[in-house]
Amino acid sequence: MSSLDRFADAKLASLEARSLRRELVSTHRMAEAGALRAGAGFVEFCGNDYLSLTHHPRVVAASAAAAERYGTGAGASRLVTGNHPLLAELEAELAAFRGSEDCVVFGSGYLTNLGVLPCFVGPDDLVVVDAWSHACIHAGSSLSRSRVVRVPHADVDALAETLERHRADHPRCVVATDGVFSMDGDLAPLDRLAGLCEAHDAWLLVDDAHALGVVGEGRGTAAHFGVEVPLQVGTLSKTLASYGGYLCASRTVCDLVRTRARSFIYSTGLPPSAVAAALAALRVLRDEPARRERPLALATRFTRAVGLPDPQTPIVPWVLDDPGVALAASAALEHRGFLVTAIRPPTVPTARLRFTFAAGHTDAQVEALASAVLDWEGA
Ligand SMILES: *Cc1c(COP(=O)(O)O)cnc(C)c1O
Repeated sequence: MSSLDRFADAKLASLEARSLRRELVSTHRMAEAGALRAGAGFVEFCGNDYLSLTHHPRVVAASAAAAERYGTGAGASRLVTGNHPLLAELEAELAAFRGSEDCVVFGSGYLTNLGVLPCFVGPDDLVVVDAWSHACIHAGSSLSRSRVVRVPHADVDALAETLERHRADHPRCVVATDGVFSMDGDLAPLDRLAGLCEAHDAWLLVDDAHALGVVGEGRGTAAHFGVEVPLQVGTLSKTLASYGGYLCASRTVCDLVRTRARSFIYSTGLPPSAVAAALAALRVLRDEPARRERPLALATRFTRAVGLPDPQTPIVPWVLDDPGVALAASAALEHRGFLVTAIRPPTVPTARLRFTFAAGHTDAQVEALASAVLDWEGA
């Protein structure tokens, strides 16, 4: 064995011993939250396709037509020849929907945060991050080489204290947070964060990856709280049923991002079919308001059936602490026909099952899931 393989092998063995090794399972997702694994059928309760649009006929048709007409790949970065006209259409409609002047689409949500943060803060500056924010917010903060202060989750007093103590030592400051926390499903207290940012001349960045389509009449957490958020980040990969990410902001902020964000400049544009799918999904989301009500209603039906607190979003965590127990619970549910992946450290501090509910689930499927959970707890 080479020293490289020996290193990898030892590292894997140590992760395995703590139930922290991760493995890929081939999964064929189908319409209405169906999934196939090794030929067996399941109902999936752990995805982020909250409005069940990845198999919606309008979305699939738009994507297929774009591939037929425009080819499979963008072929170059957007600043070269990869800037397909569908991107301008998507950016205009996203900006209008999120209530911003302009929008820039990136290769993914992860790449958006990696690119945006270093455009606005650098080595002399300050970034204050909610500790439970998504990995790409932490990564973008580190990449900016700013002073990064992580404050305890949703702790507005800790944020205030941090700004009071450190803000004056730095020319510029970004406060960054998820809008909906991806593993817990709670909302960031944006009403209070926005006020603090204003008082301290800090720029608020909110990543609404899990909010679009389900919070604030689908428009996200800024709309829900009725506050201005100057840097609204999101993804095309969840409710918008495609792949990609975006920033919604003022025209001049977006102009600077298009000129300076390295993950925008040095990465290939999205395939036209991915852009067409996101655009079609955004239109369905806008045109079918009843679809937006369904995920939270189903999540609430589930929490009431199993005795968990009412959820704020379609994400319901069931914290089990021990990664081995979380894996066992996940396996038991899989045995009953439900896919609910165990989420373990370092993704989250405490292992859990993360249930998510989507427009395509039926009431009966949710009831059956709740029974399976209660049976596992009782066993
Ligand atoms: C999923 C997620 C991302 C990553 O988006 P991708 O488009 O999948 O790269 C970024 N931020 C948050 C909060 C997320 O939940």
